[in-house]
Amino acid sequence: MRTILFLLAFFLAGGWLFAQVTPATAVTANPVDKRWVLVIHGGAGGPAKGTMKPEKEKQYTDSLNKALQIGAGVLSSGGNSLDAVETVIRFMENCPLFNAGKGAVLNEDGKAELDASIMDGKTGQAGAVACVTMVKNPISAARAVMEKTQHVLLIGKGADDFAKAKGLEIVDPSYFITPERLEAWKAAKQKTRPEQPSPTSADKEKKGTVGCVALDSYGNLSAGTSTGGMMMKMSGRVGDSPIIGAGTYADNNSCAVSCTGHGEFFIRNSAAYSVSAQMLYANKPLKEAADFVIFDILKAKGGEGGLIALDKDGNIATPFSSNAMFRGTVSSVTPPEVMIY
Ligand code: ASP
Repeated sequence: MRTILFLLAFFLAGGWLFAQVTPATAVTANPVDKRWVLVIHGGAGGPAKGTMKPEKEKQYTDSLNKALQIGAGVLSSGGNSLDAVETVIRFMENCPLFNAGKGAVLNEDGKAELDASIMDGKTGQAGAVACVTMVKNPISAARAVMEKTQHVLLIGKGADDFAKAKGLEIVDPSYFITPERLEAWKAAKQKTRPEQPSPTSADKEKKGTVGCVALDSYGNLSAGTSTGGMMMKMSGRVGDSPIIGAGTYADNNSCAVSCTGHGEFFIRNSAAYSVSAQMLYANKPLKEAADFVIFDILKAKGGEGGLIALDKDGNIATPFSSNAMFRGTVSSVTPPEVMIY
């Protein structure tokens, strides 16, 4: 009995001593060794399979691959999910292929009015901007709203002025307009004339937002979305992308979500939050919750689009009801993979 007591005391003391000499970082494990996951989308507005020119398809897959590599670089070096989401979306905003930042679709006046939002699943904090016309990277303005104000959403001139005051890069509104988008806008204008009712390429150019969700090696989820909205939208129209709970949502207890598609439907049905709510309150696994929102709620009402979602365990869901959705995944254990159809 005495021997047993002695051994017990010995091990307890040893455990305590070990805890004292072991640095805190070793107790929480080296984060770089832990799992991380990143998912992106480049919009649900792509054309039907077989109708996109191979060169164009390659441009998209190359850019999506590059975006994944950029995100992987942030997360594999121990960066957090918010930084990964912002960095990836900035790259996609700067890439003229996507309907966000440079290359955004144009509104009825031929202007680019941009929306973006970001959410931190760890703190529940969120930031967004809508109808900005001068800040080069709206996602960074959204993050600044989250981190440097008491508010969630700033719009229009106030948002542009705020971004400028915070030192974010400001550009002339013409910076966002690419020749392709201008041509599509002109075609769409023509189409609205009764004497010219034939279909144009503008229909295919209506959508194409960018989004990113990430789980970092510390177990934190984040989500972000950025867009030019929908081609020929009314001046001042705001879609789902900058609306927390509609186009973007993140909660460490459930999942991170970024949506793309016909924004009015996503707003009316709180699409992004609905995925999380079904996991939390109906105990659905991620895929079931995400499919339910896209197919049973939105598609059933005529709302086309898709979403990317990532849960706290690293599971991924990417449902879409459109012809295509540009998307990709990468993780600490899987190489970059890009998909369109
Ligand atoms: N959801 C965006 C909007 O309605 C458009 C898109 O995702 O393509 O503004």
